[in-house]
Amino acid sequence: MNVQFAHKLSTAARFLGLAQARCFHCLRPFSPDAENFSASTTSPPAGFFDPAASLCPSCRDLLAPYRGPRCPLCGLPSPMPNGLPAPVPVGGYDSSREAYQGSLCGRCLTDPPPWTRAAFYGLYRQSLRHTLLRLKFDGHLYLAPLLGAFLLEAAHCLPGPDALLAVPQYPDHLRHRGYNQAHELAKALHAQTGLALVPGLLSRTRPGPAQVGLSARSRPENVRHSFAASPGVKGLRLWLVDDVMTTGSTLRAAGLALLKAGASSVDVLVVARTPKEDMDFTGNSAP
Ligand SMILES: [Zn+2]
Ligand SMILES: [Zn+2]
Repeated sequence: MNVQFAHKLSTAARFLGLAQARCFHCLRPFSPDAENFSASTTSPPAGFFDPAASLCPSCRDLLAPYRGPRCPLCGLPSPMPNGLPAPVPVGGYDSSREAYQGSLCGRCLTDPPPWTRAAFYGLYRQSLRHTLLRLKFDGHLYLAPLLGAFLLEAAHCLPGPDALLAVPQYPDHLRHRGYNQAHELAKALHAQTGLALVPGLLSRTRPGPAQVGLSARSRPENVRHSFAASPGVKGLRLWLVDDVMTTGSTLRAAGLALLKAGASSVDVLVVARTPKEDMDFTGNSAP
């Protein structure tokens, strides 16, 4: 059975109520509701992944994106005033530096990051955190397309790049784990967008101690000078992909290396952002 015929058959079965989908996240069967049901009879493009049609209603709630206020430069969520619903600027968030200078966080005001813009999908808490940990430590690589679709949704506020690249792992760590979760996310994004994914543009030159157990303050020293970018980045507008941004130290070091090697711009794209209140203890949220 070819792919197009299988898609038409499953579309017809769902339309007639004869088939249930299985939630991509919790694996429970569910009936896609009308609003997420696509009556299209054409096959989806290669690499297409639709989270709305692939998640059961409760997982859609649990994995909902963060839509609250944030620092436009590093994405750090801003406190909600008096618990009121987060104000959303007209036209959505524009993460250009010029637009929201007034809402920059304290660190970006005094020590701005090297990247131009940063986008993330959700907070590094609860279900999203658990899902990212499953990808990173349990080898659940099947989750990459779902998380890649989240990256794509988050990336809507970023101008298109010339190429994608993932924050690399040190070779010994890569050999130990067998895969780099950030690269798996970049691959999923590449599959869904066709954006160029060029391996080898950035490498890790020294492992540095693990970030786990380091206080937020000691992280920058730990990752400084630990990346090397290839001359191939010269003139490129890049999206630098990672799973989580906690203090941003790793992404700052990686972004700096890319810009020093001549990249035209670096935008940071991560699935999840750690809120400030989750960082202020040793061994913060990135295990
Ligand atoms: Zn589910
Ligand atoms: Zn900031």
